[in-house]
Amino acid sequence: MICCKECLDLLYDYLEGDLDQETTKSLEEHFQDCPPCISFLNTYKSTTKICRNTLNQVEIPEAIRETLLKVLKDHKVDN
Ligand SMILES: [Zn+2]
Repeated sequence: MICCKECLDLLYDYLEGDLDQETTKSLEEHFQDCPPCISFLNTYKSTTKICRNTLNQVEIPEAIRETLLKVLKDHKVDN
């Protein structure tokens, strides 16, 4: 089972379709049990879309990343 931090690290590759099947499956299983990561995924998706449409680049704004990390901390994630 992967943790939330790994989730964050893998998110970009996941959305790009660069992960292998096993990792993708682990990630999707994590999403099923982790609402904060789902909401981050959705935020990331829309942010990515906006970036592509305007700046033609993919990047997580620092503010969003910090917000998520705070959420995860409050969520009291195991390990
Ligand atoms: Zn998570």
